Amino acid sequence: MSRSAHPAGPRHADVLPEGHYSAPPADLNALDGKVWSQTVTRDADGVVTVGGIPVTRLAEEFGTPAYFLDEADFRARACAWRTAFGHDADVFYAGKAFLSRAVVRWLHEEGLNLDVCSGGELATALSAGMPADRIALHGNNKSTDEIRRAVEAGVGRIVLDSFQEIVRVAHIARELGKRQRVQIRVTVGVEAHTHEFIATAHEDQKFGIPLAGGQAAEAVRRALQLDGLELIGIHSHIGSQIFDMSGFEVAAHRVVGLLKDIRDEHGVELPEIDLGGGLGIAYTSDDDPREPHEIAKALTEIVTRECEAARLRTPRISVEPGRAIVGPTAFTLYEVGTIKPLDGLRTYVSVDGGMSDNIRTALYDAEYSVALVSRTSEAEPMLARVVGKHCESGDIVVKDAFLPADLAPGDLIAVPATGAYCRSMASNYNHVTRPPVVAVRDGEARVIVRRETEEDLLRLDVG
Ligand SMILES: *Cc1c(COP(=O)(O)O)cnc(C)c1O
Repeated sequence: MSRSAHPAGPRHADVLPEGHYSAPPADLNALDGKVWSQTVTRDADGVVTVGGIPVTRLAEEFGTPAYFLDEADFRARACAWRTAFGHDADVFYAGKAFLSRAVVRWLHEEGLNLDVCSGGELATALSAGMPADRIALHGNNKSTDEIRRAVEAGVGRIVLDSFQEIVRVAHIARELGKRQRVQIRVTVGVEAHTHEFIATAHEDQKFGIPLAGGQAAEAVRRALQLDGLELIGIHSHIGSQIFDMSGFEVAAHRVVGLLKDIRDEHGVELPEIDLGGGLGIAYTSDDDPREPHEIAKALTEIVTRECEAARLRTPRISVEPGRAIVGPTAFTLYEVGTIKPLDGLRTYVSVDGGMSDNIRTALYDAEYSVALVSRTSEAEPMLARVVGKHCESGDIVVKDAFLPADLAPGDLIAVPATGAYCRSMASNYNHVTRPPVVAVRDGEARVIVRRETEEDLLRLDVG
């Protein structure tokens, strides 16, 4: 393995091509605790470890690319959310961020509830022993089969997303001789993403029933009339990767307005309000997420204040963090394959995975950071773009990042904060097999989702 086989790439000092990056970090070997999970450190010999195990050993044993999930960090985050909201609120982990049976067991043990949005997620949750009454079923187009299985299993709530579904769920519950607890998902005309929120026109989307024009009030009217349903509350989810609480403020104001209208019209005070998920995490050092206890305090205050103003009893609050729990707990480990310096632009670093294990960069223009983890380097920073091995020029994992200029094929690099929406959105594009998820804790590593094999791929191809 040669460390000097390629010409030096462009340096930050002489070129600053278009891109989204700040100055190179003072120390490329340093690991920012904001973007790496709790137990990640760099050993005296320069190798990064997680849960006490060096990444070089993990790569040997499990191969690359692979996701390594810091179990202690996951449990700590789940517990922090649970504790922050206390006994008068419920925390539902959004399973779509990443779901496996091990994760379901950890959540169960840490006292969290679980959101699922498909039959597959429901099956995973039930098979790992999550009590059905702690599961919520979501989705804008649940099949009748999915609804039936959920009602039969006795899920704690189904979040109704359309007028058809109100009737469907009521019908299935009656057939099964049950009364299903439900919430109605409304769109409040607020959409929040990262640091901004927009308070107009965002009813133009597939989820929920608009508050505007009285549609949500009509949905409530219908749900209250059907004996298969027990309407327990109103649900609102305003976006993702949110740092600014003002979007929640507007949402809570509008949802409480509906609760008040319901009380005035029907004489019932619905006992629950669900504010959804979407709380942001640090993907790079520029992001400053809030702690769960700050979020809990802010949300509780907002709802309490709005309810006092409307003279309503404060309903039980629930929240649905996905990314904020699992996102920071994992990193993806890759091996560097080829390195291509482009004069005056940047250096393209190709890894053994790509958009099949992390579609977020291509899909959302997401930002990530990256570090050389199999050794330290004192070389100058080199402006790099980490790309995958897929047949697509948009196959980018990290758009702009600084890596040491002596980076070489065979080096291991890791992308932190890939716990959410990476494995769960992974694909087989180019018939690349999906990487494993390995849980690491106290010096032990175990596969919780195994690597897909070419045999797996061929088994589905029945000729
Ligand atoms: C996606 C989603 C969540 C979780 O979002 P995160 O950004 O992962 O916190 C919560 N609730 C609903 C209804 C969702 O669709």
